Amino acid sequence: MTTKDIAIVGSGVMGLTAAHQLALRGARVTLYDRNRDVGRGCSWWAGGMLALWCEMESAEPLIGELGLESLSYWREHFPHVINKGSLVVAPPRDTPDLKRFAARTSHFEVIDGKRVAALEPDLAGRFETGLFFEKEAHLDPRKALGFLSERLQKDLGVRFVMEGDVRPEALDADHVLDCRGFEARDVLPDLRGVKGEMLIVRTSEISFARPIRLLHPRIPVYIVPRDDHHFMVGATMIESSDQSRISARSMVELLNAAYALHPSFGEAEIIETGTDVRPAFPDNLPRIRRDGKILRLNGLYRHGYLGAPALTRRAAEIVMEGKTFPEVER
Ligand SMILES: Cc1cc2nc3c(=O)[nH]c(=O)nc-3n(C[C@H](O)[C@H](O)[C@H](O)COP(=O)(O)OP(=O)(O)OC[C@H]3O[C@@H](n4cnc5c(N)ncnc54)[C@H](O)[C@@H]3O)c2cc1C
Repeated sequence: MTTKDIAIVGSGVMGLTAAHQLALRGARVTLYDRNRDVGRGCSWWAGGMLALWCEMESAEPLIGELGLESLSYWREHFPHVINKGSLVVAPPRDTPDLKRFAARTSHFEVIDGKRVAALEPDLAGRFETGLFFEKEAHLDPRKALGFLSERLQKDLGVRFVMEGDVRPEALDADHVLDCRGFEARDVLPDLRGVKGEMLIVRTSEISFARPIRLLHPRIPVYIVPRDDHHFMVGATMIESSDQSRISARSMVELLNAAYALHPSFGEAEIIETGTDVRPAFPDNLPRIRRDGKILRLNGLYRHGYLGAPALTRRAAEIVMEGKTFPEVER
């Protein structure tokens, strides 16, 4: 049997996991990106929450299905997944929001203030109740992108061609996977942008073991702990393709929400701000579109790390085994 030559355009979470799934199945893979370093698109700014049951609050069941498979993928292939669950809390005046959230989700335990404090000592006395999603997990996206890229190059022989704008149509390979994220809107007219803004702050006065979501009527915020007392505070969801910097209003609202979670965030250093555009189809579900020898993988929306491994496994089986997957081929 001859080895299949596969070209992949885009080194975000979609492109890297696609390269991994294909290399594991014996394909000869070349991965292209316009940037010098891998993963500097939308994937760079994500929170990295593998929170599939929380996401069911607003997502379709397909996300739960893809999310479950992706969670197993990360646990199997990335050694730094943090399996400590996630916690959802609301200020006392917003307890109805917590009830609404609980009614739309599953796989959680309703916990009281004492249990909140036992899980997260720095939240002691601040919340009377919460929802604990014990089976969820999180990862640091930047570590995951770096880890995958190294593994692909060192162990799986994937060739990286960086710093060049590439048109998938111009590549000579048995199959081409277009994983350009929002940049693929030139050939995917129903792809839209959902702007997301985030901050990274640093404070040694607080430590959290797991992501915390604070339900808030205007801007629900989540805080994801990272190494070295860093916290990712995210994220806005704005129907816009504007990739310019974070707005003053969003910055104020994210900081206000962090401050409402714990006043020590008021003293934190702002290390970084970030903005990008989540690629989304009208139903916010990811898709694989066939276009001759090109497969276009896109629409991860807010489910990049939760959706990509499961979607790219399907793409790899389309290419290598001729399978079809009607649930995502739309
Ligand atoms: C603030 C924020 C928070 C988020 N939080 C989460 C979260 O907690 N969990 C989660 O699962 N998801 C989250 N997401 C969503 C997630 O980041 C996206 O769904 C995901 O990153 C999309 O990945 P992608 O690989 O399709 O696109 P991208 O990451 O944008 O990758 C596309 C790549 O293609 C390259 N490229 C584009 N055009 C060309 C070209 N012509 N030639 C060569 N290369 C090209 C780019 O340089 C880029 O590297 C968040 C998003 C944002 C903005």
